Amino acid sequence: MKNICVYCGSSIGRQEAYSSAARDLARSLVDRNLGLVYGGASVGIMGLIADTVLQLGGKAVGVIPDALVRKEIAHRNLTELHVTQSMHERKTLMAELSDGFIALPGGIGTLEEIFEIWTWAQLGIHAKPCGLLNVAGYFDSLTTFLDHAAAEQFVKKPHRSILIVEHQPEALLDRFASYEPPAIQKWVGKADL
Ligand code: AMP
Repeated sequence: MKNICVYCGSSIGRQEAYSSAARDLARSLVDRNLGLVYGGASVGIMGLIADTVLQLGGKAVGVIPDALVRKEIAHRNLTELHVTQSMHERKTLMAELSDGFIALPGGIGTLEEIFEIWTWAQLGIHAKPCGLLNVAGYFDSLTTFLDHAAAEQFVKKPHRSILIVEHQPEALLDRFASYEPPAIQKWVGKADL
């Protein structure tokens, strides 16, 4: 693995634990010589993780749509900043540049992004690891719901198991390093989307 995509809030959240976890994840990425791919903003948890990676001498690559450059205050000191024409182009490029995908605490944008990339794994479009960094129990009720969705047979068990959940960045990255994707019938190719 060379690059990890981190989806995270454009807000900072209510608790210091979220910022602290973003800094810990940044440190783990740099220690493992993994580049950060993220949404390219300078605000919230997004800005914090990029700043920390850069301060530690790591590589931070941002991908931001033109329309959000001003609104989300694009980070101006990144290793690379890709400006895309659309949100869909942004997410596609982030996926192409990355070897694994992590969601830190965040809002609707973060949830949409990790669910989309998890869906792509379910469809066999990619076989890269996807995970939640469950900081301060932020994702507890979501994982409970996902287990319920699997128990109710709307989510297949092998598909549920694709989404790795850990509390510590090191544990999550260890599981990424040894990730074996489940055998999944390839329903669609990227060209079909
Ligand atoms: P949030 O988690 O809502 O603070 O947003 C985190 C990131 O997700 C920001 O860069 C947003 O631009 C992005 N985002 C927000 N809505 C969407 C969406 N519908 N699709 C993709 N990304 C989004």
